[in-house]
Amino acid sequence: MTLIISISGVRGTVPDSLTPDVCLDLAKAFGTYLEGGTVVIGTDPRRSSEPIKGIMFAGLLSAGCKVIDLGVAPTPTVGIMTRELAAAGGIVITASHNPLPWNGLKFMRGSGIFLNGAEGADFLKIYEGKKFRRAPGGKVIGYRKGTDCHIKKVLEQQIDAVAVRQARLKVAVDGCNGAGSEALVKLLKKLGCRVLPLNCDITLPFPHDPEPVAANLGELMELVGKKKADLGFAVDSDADRLAIVSDTGEAIGEELTLALAAKYLLGTKPGGQPTVVVNLSTSQVMDDVCREAGATLVRTKVGEVNVTEELKRLGGVIGGEGNGGVILPGVGWNRDSLSGAALILSLVAGSGKKISQLAAELPRYEMIKTKVECGSQAEAAAFLEKSKAVFSGGNLVLTEGVKAVYPDGWIHIRPSNTEPIVRIIAEAKTKERAEELIKQVSA
Ligand code: MG
Repeated sequence: MTLIISISGVRGTVPDSLTPDVCLDLAKAFGTYLEGGTVVIGTDPRRSSEPIKGIMFAGLLSAGCKVIDLGVAPTPTVGIMTRELAAAGGIVITASHNPLPWNGLKFMRGSGIFLNGAEGADFLKIYEGKKFRRAPGGKVIGYRKGTDCHIKKVLEQQIDAVAVRQARLKVAVDGCNGAGSEALVKLLKKLGCRVLPLNCDITLPFPHDPEPVAANLGELMELVGKKKADLGFAVDSDADRLAIVSDTGEAIGEELTLALAAKYLLGTKPGGQPTVVVNLSTSQVMDDVCREAGATLVRTKVGEVNVTEELKRLGGVIGGEGNGGVILPGVGWNRDSLSGAALILSLVAGSGKKISQLAAELPRYEMIKTKVECGSQAEAAAFLEKSKAVFSGGNLVLTEGVKAVYPDGWIHIRPSNTEPIVRIIAEAKTKERAEELIKQVSA
């Protein structure tokens, strides 16, 4: 298995590709990159996370870093605490939605934002050069209040806590026994919800593949139906992605998580001409939600850091990705399932409507994702050129790869950062039209 080193971090299988040696050098390199500053660390609860954390301690200490250990913590909590504790950087040990035997490392700067392309390149140059800083004075400090701080920050936002508490919503939560299990249940209880926890024990292994897509949410759908819950929430192993199961027991699709959260937030009239930031591949339901609320929608290249940096630069009110990633700037600069859950509950309680009704009120689109194998970069470049010609009749956006927008749908073709493939996403009012768009370039 190959080790994937990219803008979104390092990922590999343990122990054959993400080896102890690789982890140690990455820790030494990060300590060198930060010139021995303070580093906040959190992990997801998979078994390999704790040993990897021990190795990270060793590497960071050798570079003279002070390490603050949050224990098991969601990725957004690590981002928040990196900023709150005025650290120089943060590390999350997680393979996110990937199943076992994967694990990985995500690196953040002091703001809690992930390293961007240029910063990541500087960091990897140190990793490859192997000339690491050696300094005394390092130490490790345990800190276990990250979750409480995170929850407090969410409750301070423009959520409708009064309405949510009054509604006494019955909410099922599938934490996948991951890092968000405890935090999400705690937040919902603080909001007066009647919580039905499912797979919220971090001492147990993942009960299913941790990607919160419909295929993995059978147990949650059943629980919501059986207990007549108002809705169900599911998260991945590091709790930055949030999926919703409606009161009718159906997974409503991750693309709607951000749309519903944004609908609520924009409805609170955040003032001025609000800006929302998403990536180029996020559903056009976001265009509809923003248009209706009089907000400006800005699209960036795919990759959380790209969305976050633009959100920060433009002073946007909310941002995120179509994979269930909600970024609420007042809370932090990462996709955050806790922020997403609080906004969704506010929408449900404030409107007095069922989540199934709220989802049905949004325009429906069919999205199809596929990929084309390319033997080389030249082959990928040729494929993109061909795509540009094929879709020259559409409104072309060339920020990343080729995106062609038509009145009844769009297609986005972009080379992967991590694999020798070109990713293709098409979305349209009907499945046939989305298929047709894909066929045009695959032929
Ligand atoms: Mg994740």
